[in-house]
Amino acid sequence: MPDKLIITVAPTGNVPTKEMNPATPLTPAEIADDIAECARLGASVAHIHARSPDGLPTQSRDVYAAILDELASRDTGVITMISTGARGGGTRADERGAGMDLGCEMASLATGSSNFPDRVNANPPDVIEALARRMRECGVKPEIECFDVAMISNAAALAERGLLDEPLHFNMVMGVPGSIPATERNLEFMVESIPPGSTWCACAIGRAQVPILTAAIGMGGHARTGLEDTLLFEKGVPATNAMLVERVVQMAHEAGREVASPDEARIMLGLRPAT
Ligand code: ZN
Repeated sequence: MPDKLIITVAPTGNVPTKEMNPATPLTPAEIADDIAECARLGASVAHIHARSPDGLPTQSRDVYAAILDELASRDTGVITMISTGARGGGTRADERGAGMDLGCEMASLATGSSNFPDRVNANPPDVIEALARRMRECGVKPEIECFDVAMISNAAALAERGLLDEPLHFNMVMGVPGSIPATERNLEFMVESIPPGSTWCACAIGRAQVPILTAAIGMGGHARTGLEDTLLFEKGVPATNAMLVERVVQMAHEAGREVASPDEARIMLGLRPAT
């Protein structure tokens, strides 16, 4: 029996706006409503970005606190993962990791730099190490965001130096212009490159999402979807987070994989049981 599938929803990201897709959740209440609906449909992890009241990306501890409070009041049981990505506003580790002590179970950690279409995805060594230390202090498990293969070997090196605890959990971020192209061959290469015993997930931007998630599900990995990764469900059809999660649930059924509950995902990811 293949492992159950962990579905992560990334509802907001840093880039989408209401103009780009009116279903993009931006306020804490909208984000929590969307995650609650996606959790009912089968998502067990929520990858969360915060936006300030003007809609711009922020790493504000207060906004993350508001999102987590809204989520807690909806009693979803979902695993919460805060973004520490390079486009959230701040550049220093204390800014990017400002929400680490709020009780989230996971956080994203990019272990190398690459390019976004309009700027550097800047993750200098000192920032990576400080974020990793802060996550460990707060009992937060990193999801290693790999925009290219070098980020996998760098994460393995950090683990060897004792800065990251194994087993590692990776997310292969594919198809971002300036990062690794979203091909099945590249996905296989990335997965072959992770340390034994690691868990992994994949996501891909835009039209690459369906073929890459299909491959990932077939290879025994896990899958991320959401408006952060694609604004369209298919050509000419705007997506909602719920539509995207439902599609991944359907893909899992077609591939003969059951969908993991949040508690099952906690065990697979080595997280503490929910309290
Ligand atoms: Zn993100």
